[in-house]
Amino acid sequence: MHNNIDDLIDIEKKAIQSIDQATDTETLEQLSTRYLGRKGVLTAFLRNISALPEEDRPNAGKNANILKGKLEAAFKSAFSKVDRLNDADSSGIDVTLPGRSVKRGNNHPVTQVTDEICDIFLRLGFDIAEGPEVETDYYNFEALNFPKHHPARDMQDTFFVSENIVLRTHTSPSQPRVMEKTEPPIRIISPGKVFRCDSDVTHTPMFNQVEGLMVDENISFGDLKGILTTFIHQFFDKETSLRFRPSFFPFTEPSAEVDIRCVMCRGKGCRICSKTGWLEILGSGMVHPAVFENVDYDTDKFTGFAFGMGIERLAMLKYGIDDLRKFFENDVRFLGQF
Ligand SMILES: [Zn+2]
Repeated sequence: MHNNIDDLIDIEKKAIQSIDQATDTETLEQLSTRYLGRKGVLTAFLRNISALPEEDRPNAGKNANILKGKLEAAFKSAFSKVDRLNDADSSGIDVTLPGRSVKRGNNHPVTQVTDEICDIFLRLGFDIAEGPEVETDYYNFEALNFPKHHPARDMQDTFFVSENIVLRTHTSPSQPRVMEKTEPPIRIISPGKVFRCDSDVTHTPMFNQVEGLMVDENISFGDLKGILTTFIHQFFDKETSLRFRPSFFPFTEPSAEVDIRCVMCRGKGCRICSKTGWLEILGSGMVHPAVFENVDYDTDKFTGFAFGMGIERLAMLKYGIDDLRKFFENDVRFLGQF
């Protein structure tokens, strides 16, 4: 009987070739029976080992078992390949392959806080008005009662584009721009980027502000306090106490800065509030009559208030972020936390 190592090599070659060519389960099952079944080729080979010369038997048995293992593995992978092909749709796309997950992005914390501020004021009946970032000296300063050479201009480190064109230093130019086109009543907020020639731990050359303006008959400082108190209670929480401190801005009179009880230490005094227990968060005041005159409003009939605040500062206090520059470094590990 012809039964040796050459036979095994022959069996292996034929079996592997047939397995590779099989494209359906039925064929594979037939092949499996033919090679590994009880009456299969390999089983017969093993059964006939006793007919070999005694010295050849151990090697033949060992090689036959190795081949058996190889064929079992080949069938296993061929069956799962055929299963996958059966599951695939007509375009040949393997729907069982794991998908590539797409990492979802999220809005920048400054955008989130801007949206939140806008939502609160929209609910209070305000509209949103946006203005240009490159602004004329007139709207940025003069219309807001900063005459040329007025010392208050030094408060704002201005980027000049040309003699009469600036990068706006605040969102306040929205006030005269809206008032020129609209008769009272006016209730607007105006969020956007502003620019100042200043850069350190607490200042960046570009940051975001939101401006507010309300004008009508009989608007009083009480309305200003009411709106800002409502805003602060909604933005932080109802327990946040606040205080109004006299201040100066050329375009409001009287003017007030608003402080809130420190959100970090609850007023006990910490590094963030410089041990005072209070944090300054916005500037406000009653619109200066000179501003109304510039837009031809009747100052006997109309009064109003305006306010402005830095959005990054509000975001820092809300989320307990201690370095302003983190907002501008675009580190996704930081930004992904919000
Ligand atoms: Zn504090």
